[in-house]
Amino acid sequence: MIPSELRQFLDSTRPLLIGGEPVDSGSDGIIDVLDPATEDVVGRTAAAGADDIDAAVSAAQTALHSDAWSGLSPDERGRILWRVAEGLEAHAESLAWLNTLENGKPLSASRAGDVPAAARTFRHYAGMCTKIAGRSPQLVSSARDFHAYTRPEPVGVVGQIVPWNGPIVAASWKLAPALAAGCTSVFKPAEETPLTALYIGRILEEAGLPPGVVNIVPGFGAVAGAAICAHDGIRKVAFTGSTEVGREIVRAAAGNLKKVSLELGGKSPVIICADADLDKAIPAAANAIFFNAGQVCIAGSRLYVEEPVFDRVIDGIARIAADMRVGPGIEDGSQMGPLISRKQLDRVLGLVQSGRDEGARVVTGGERLGDTGCFMQPTVLADTDAGMTVVREEIFGPVLCAMKFTDLDSVIAAANDTEYGLAASIWTRDLQRAHQIAARVEAGLVWINCHAVADPAIAFGGYKQSGWGRENGWEGMEQYLESKSIVANVS
Ligand code: ADP
Repeated sequence: MIPSELRQFLDSTRPLLIGGEPVDSGSDGIIDVLDPATEDVVGRTAAAGADDIDAAVSAAQTALHSDAWSGLSPDERGRILWRVAEGLEAHAESLAWLNTLENGKPLSASRAGDVPAAARTFRHYAGMCTKIAGRSPQLVSSARDFHAYTRPEPVGVVGQIVPWNGPIVAASWKLAPALAAGCTSVFKPAEETPLTALYIGRILEEAGLPPGVVNIVPGFGAVAGAAICAHDGIRKVAFTGSTEVGREIVRAAAGNLKKVSLELGGKSPVIICADADLDKAIPAAANAIFFNAGQVCIAGSRLYVEEPVFDRVIDGIARIAADMRVGPGIEDGSQMGPLISRKQLDRVLGLVQSGRDEGARVVTGGERLGDTGCFMQPTVLADTDAGMTVVREEIFGPVLCAMKFTDLDSVIAAANDTEYGLAASIWTRDLQRAHQIAARVEAGLVWINCHAVADPAIAFGGYKQSGWGRENGWEGMEQYLESKSIVANVS
C-alpha cells in the first residue's frame, strides 16, 4: 500500500523549492510524471524555466555567504548530513514507493538498494566534513623565510543535473559531497523522475539545512538544464547522463569556463574465463545486464566468454532471462520492471532490430512484453561482433551481446575497443590473470569476481568518453573543493 504521507504528497502539483520557499508555478509549465508500468500520471510538478534558474542561483549565492551556512563549523555541517541520512531512513517506505512509481524498478530493489545506499552516502560524507585539511609544503627556494599552506575552500554555487535511472542514489551522490565541502546547489532532477528529489528536499529541510543551500528545480533538459549550464553565477556543473548530453554541457559551460564533472555512458565488458566459478559468474553476469532493466551506466552489456565454456554460460544466462519475472515494480516477486518510457522502449527495440539486421542471433527475448506499459523481454544476442551497432552503442536496456574469446591479448583488445571506459568485470580463479587483465583494461572501475559493487568509499567514474572526474570517496569530495595556496613572508 502506498504510504499515506506519500499519497498526500502526490495529491497536488509539487512546487519547485527555491530559497527554502515553494514556488508553485514554474516558468516552463507543468511536468506530468508517468508510471512506466502503466503510463498513467502518478504526480505533477512545476517545471523550472530560465527565470526560475536565475532565482535559484541567486538563492544559492545568498546561502553560500550566509552565516547560517558558511558560519557553520564542519562538525555542525556533518551533523546536518547525518540527520539527512536519518531522515531518508525515517521516510524510507515513502521514498522507496516513489522511486518505484517514477522509475519502475521493483519495490524490493528500491527498499533494499536505493534508499539504504543514499543514507550510507550521506553518513559517509557527514564524516568527511571534519576531515578536510590543507597541507603545509616547504618552499623549494627557501629554507625558512616563508610559511606556506593550502586552504581547501568550497567551489561555490554548483549546478547538479542527474538522470532518471536511480533518482535517490543520484541525488545522494551529488548532494552529499557538495554539502560536505560547503557548496550550495541548484539541483535539477530528470524530467521523468522529479518527485523523489522534491521529497528529498523536504527531508533536507527537516534535517535543518538552511534555506537556499539546496534549491530543487525540476525541469526539462533543453530549458532548465541548459539554463544551469549557461549561467554565469554557477561555478561548476556536475552532470550524470548520456555522453551526447555531456558534450552539450561542456559546450554550454565554456561561457564562464565553469568547472565540469561528468559521469556518462558505458559499454562495460564482463570477461568470464574458463576457470571461473560459473555457478557464481552466470547469475552475476545476468544480473549485471538485467538489473534495473539494463538502465545502468555500469551495466555489463558486452559479455566475453572463453571458448570452452561459452555455450554453458550463454545457456545459463538465457535460462535466467527466460525465467525472469518481468512486471510492475509494485507487484510482489517482480524481478525486472519496465523501461523508463515508451521512447526508451522503442529505442531499445530498434537497436535489437539493428542487431538482427547486422547478423546477430537472438538467443532469447528481443520483444516488447504485453501491450500496457514499457516492458521488454530480457534479451541475449549471440554471434555479435565489434562492428555491430549493438556492440558499439550504449543500449541502456536489458540487452546482452555475447562474444567468444580464446586468448588474453585478444579479449583485452576487444574489451578496450570502445569509446567508453566506465567499468569492467573479470571472472576467474587465477588471481594473477585477474590482476593482469585489471591493469590492462581501460576503465575507471574494475571488479574481480563481482560486478557493480558501488560503495560511497570507492571512487566511481570513467576513462575515455565515460566522463571527467570521480564521484564517491575522497575523490568525489575534491570535485567540490578549490585549493588556495597561501605564502607568508616570515623573515
Ligand atoms: P538519459 O539519456 O539517461 O535520459 P540525458 O543525458 O538525456 O540522460 O539526461 C540526463 C539529465 O540531463 C536530465 O536531467 C536531463 O533533463 C538533462 N539534460 C538533457 N539535455 C540537457 C541539456 N542540453 N543541458 C543540460 N541538461 C540536459
